Amino acid sequence: MESSGPFCRCGDAAELVISWSNNNPGRRFYGCKNYEKDKSIGCKYFAWFDPPTHEHLKPVILGLLKKKNQLEGHLQESRKQWNWRRLFFSDFRINLH
Ligand SMILES: [Zn+2]
Repeated sequence: MESSGPFCRCGDAAELVISWSNNNPGRRFYGCKNYEKDKSIGCKYFAWFDPPTHEHLKPVILGLLKKKNQLEGHLQESRKQWNWRRLFFSDFRINLH
C-alpha cells in the first residue's frame, strides 16, 4: 500500500485506485476512500497519479478487460451447469435405491 500519498479534504490518506474508464483505462488516481464507501460522507478529492494512458494502449487494455469479463462469465455459467448436473445425478442415484 502507498503510505506517502496525499491526503484528502477529510484528513485521511487518499486511496490509490485504478481507473477502468474508456478514456483512462489502467490509469491510477488518488481518491477519497470515504467517498468510495459513501458518497454523502466522503469528499470529492481526486488527483491523477499516472500520466495519461497512451492512445495505442487504450484499445489493448479495454480489449483485454472485455475478454477477461467474458471468460469470467463463461466460467460462472459452466460452474452453474456443473452444480446443476451434480445435483441432478446425486438425486438420480438416490432414486435408484
Ligand atoms: Zn475525503
